[in-house]
Amino acid sequence: MYINFLKVVFIMMLDDFIANDEVKTELEQAMLSNKLPHAIIIEGAKGTGKKTIADIIAGYCVCQGEKRPCGTCPGCIKALHKSHPDIFIADGSNSVEINIEAIRNIRQDAYIMPNEARLKVYLLLDCDKMLIPSQNAFLKVLEEPPANVIFVITVTSANMLLQTVRSRSRIYTLYPVSNEQAAGYLLKKYPEKPYDEILRAASLCDGNIGKTAEILESGGEQSSKLANDIFSAIANGKEYDTLVLTSQMTTNRNFASSVLDFLLENAAECVKVSVGGSSDSEIAKRVAAAKSKNRILRLAENIDRAKEILSTNVNLSFFSTWLASVLKL
Ligand SMILES: [Zn+2]
Repeated sequence: MYINFLKVVFIMMLDDFIANDEVKTELEQAMLSNKLPHAIIIEGAKGTGKKTIADIIAGYCVCQGEKRPCGTCPGCIKALHKSHPDIFIADGSNSVEINIEAIRNIRQDAYIMPNEARLKVYLLLDCDKMLIPSQNAFLKVLEEPPANVIFVITVTSANMLLQTVRSRSRIYTLYPVSNEQAAGYLLKKYPEKPYDEILRAASLCDGNIGKTAEILESGGEQSSKLANDIFSAIANGKEYDTLVLTSQMTTNRNFASSVLDFLLENAAECVKVSVGGSSDSEIAKRVAAAKSKNRILRLAENIDRAKEILSTNVNLSFFSTWLASVLKL
């Protein structure tokens, strides 16, 4: 319990957010001088830490400590437990939570004084699907901003929002960090995992912390092993084995996605060897010697397509059968 609590506090402090120094410095100064903009857009790819920054801002708004957010005062503790009455969270991936009616409710609510904190904060998370009417309704709040209120929107790209909304907000852009930075950070979160495994997962995700954590959570070792088995079945032309092995991917979508990432890495290694690069992988050398570069590229394309299909609501049993049929060299 104590350890869990420490873990949560750990990500509440700006100092512990890795890289993205420009954003951190600017936010820190704004917080120290009590000049946080009343409307903030945090943009960045999935897993770059948008929600973490949004949580830090929410902590700042309700903290009762000296250096906000302190992570230990009653306000921060309530924020960490998602039970603070002055922190409102709307999940934009559920479009109902940011539809026009929801935004109108937020607008009304925003003019009511905070319950117990200095500031009230509205986190509108993952607003990629926020429709124009909702954005226009939101714009009305920004045009006459209520006192003591901070709005935070997170979105993949601020360009998905109306120019009028953007121009009234401060936009902070988050970038993925280097693989080594990501691995170093995640090693603190997953001390039981070997560094090499974390670094390998981070490399697969281009240093994207959220995605790397997903792979680690979903059991990176198992997915890497299954991917290697599938790849060797493909390389040996054993279609039935491929089918049996892909059926093991149906347990969970994150797991399946992580297996595909490792498969893609295998294919990329073969392509590298087939264009004259060196590799430690025996199977990559063997495949590159036996198959044309175009065949390997087609396999990589199919794996990529599978990733896209997996991100839709596809039935996993159908998916694994279809996958086996396209995993051929
Ligand atoms: Zn605090």
